[in-house]
Amino acid sequence: MITGKNNIGFELSGEGKKTFSAVNPDNFTEIDNSFFSATADEVEQALAKSEVAFEQYRLTTGKDKADFLEKIADELLALGDVLVQRAVKETGLPEARIIGERGRTVGQLKMFAELVRDGSWIEATIDTGIPGREPLPKPDLRKLLVPIGPVVVFGASNFPLAFSTAGGDTASALAGGNTVIVKAHSSHPGTSELVASAIIEAARKTGMPDGVFSHLQDAGFSVGQQLVTASEVKAVTFTGSFKGGKALFDLANTRKEPIPFFAEMGSTNPIILLPGALKDNPSELAKMIAGSITLGSGQFCTNPGLLIGVDNTLLEPFKQCLGEEISAIASSTMLNKRILDNYEQKKSEAIRQNSVISLSNNSDDSENKGTPLVASVESEVFVTNPKLQEEVFGPYSLVVNCSDRTQLDHVVDQLKGQLTVTIMGTPEDLEEFGNQIEKLKNKAGRIIFNGVPTGVEVCPSMQHGGPFPATTDPRFTSVGTSAIRRFVRPLSFQGWPDHLLPAELQESNPLDIWRLYNNEWTKSN
Ligand code: NAP
Repeated sequence: MITGKNNIGFELSGEGKKTFSAVNPDNFTEIDNSFFSATADEVEQALAKSEVAFEQYRLTTGKDKADFLEKIADELLALGDVLVQRAVKETGLPEARIIGERGRTVGQLKMFAELVRDGSWIEATIDTGIPGREPLPKPDLRKLLVPIGPVVVFGASNFPLAFSTAGGDTASALAGGNTVIVKAHSSHPGTSELVASAIIEAARKTGMPDGVFSHLQDAGFSVGQQLVTASEVKAVTFTGSFKGGKALFDLANTRKEPIPFFAEMGSTNPIILLPGALKDNPSELAKMIAGSITLGSGQFCTNPGLLIGVDNTLLEPFKQCLGEEISAIASSTMLNKRILDNYEQKKSEAIRQNSVISLSNNSDDSENKGTPLVASVESEVFVTNPKLQEEVFGPYSLVVNCSDRTQLDHVVDQLKGQLTVTIMGTPEDLEEFGNQIEKLKNKAGRIIFNGVPTGVEVCPSMQHGGPFPATTDPRFTSVGTSAIRRFVRPLSFQGWPDHLLPAELQESNPLDIWRLYNNEWTKSN
């Protein structure tokens, strides 16, 4: 049942006077429940509980944390169709997509459960002492990763489950031994509350401390801003717009105590179309790329917003096919009115820029839906107009025509940091354009050959991050097991009595984990 209240640890609370409702993006009508924006006092209570609970939760074993994460997955599934239908109503995303995303969310929780149950992720590193070393004795040193403290997670609008209340950020922060406070996205508050109730239920059933998780609602910025500047908070993670992410990052940097702020923001995810890819089957290529541009109404952070072609003669048939493919794709509901309005405004702005030509001609016949568009521009114009590099969040892409390698060089030099760069071509193209490809490796977190950037596999080798402005810290990923590294720090023990060391570092290796023992990976000593 949806109460509209905030979860301050195990307690439901709705003390505020400010309320808001979710809006169905299909018809812009309010959905019946109203939600209490958390008051400053409720935020304080959540922070205090989170700080106290951290002292207990950080000491729980890997097995206990694994049980907790798995129980969250079970409770999430137990919400059944109520959760699915609420998410469909609040986001306009199709039922199949929501069911798929729930599967991904459950899979992420179980992946982190497996990681912490196994325990080797903790990077136990041991250098045994040499008391008789000359001229000075070598101390016994043992290092592992420890949790950082209460983590604030901003839920994302475009993944109501997988990047929201119990998404990858929450799962990885909890797996690392941190308490979590979620600022729910105002676009899907009912979905978020249902998921929060599953987490609280799981925490109760597995004996986790009150305050291990809190969930706060707000349809404004005050809750988020209070959380980011609170002294109790030791890390923040955010997925959303460049404007919002950068504003919160800047705010975090005004704190007395600096903390890591992991923002995943805009990316145009360029696809480089090399001659070998354009030569053989431009219509097949256009179909594949059109599918990626319009998938989920283009509302993916890995949506390909720039298509950079190298040979103008070969590019023409591809552009024609792409225009035809996009023109045949119907308008679709976007996540909320603000995102729809932003999309339509940014799309109109882009098409109004000097020398930008539309390649598609979809009829713009629905007020409530986002209409796809592909356009084209010459590379000389592109490199002089920064507006054309901005993310247009939705089913839109811009083809940049380069007549030769020198023009491609100029375009590549101009590109900002990206989550992904995709190269379409043959192995021979990769050699011929080796210099440009080397430069592109410097600009992205993931470099794809002959695929599409949408579809982010959840696995240990995934990198979902990239140089600024794609993120505020390119050293980390928000997808895959390494996401846990954002919320831990190394701690070294020097000369410590064995029985007082964490079990992971004790000489007998009681947890039977992989350790770097005197420079050798081993389970023995
Ligand atoms: P957003 O506006 O950046 O909001 C994300 C979250 O941050 C929301 O909870 C929002 O609060 C909060 N927030 C934003 N600015 C804030 C500020 N200055 N102070 C405190 N809190 C702040 O993102 P969005 O609502 O998801 O979508 C808006 C635009 O973001 C889209 O049109 C698109 O351009 C972009 N976007 C990009 C990606 C990506 O992965 N690249 C993903 C999603 C969206 P409220 O809930 O109260 O608004």
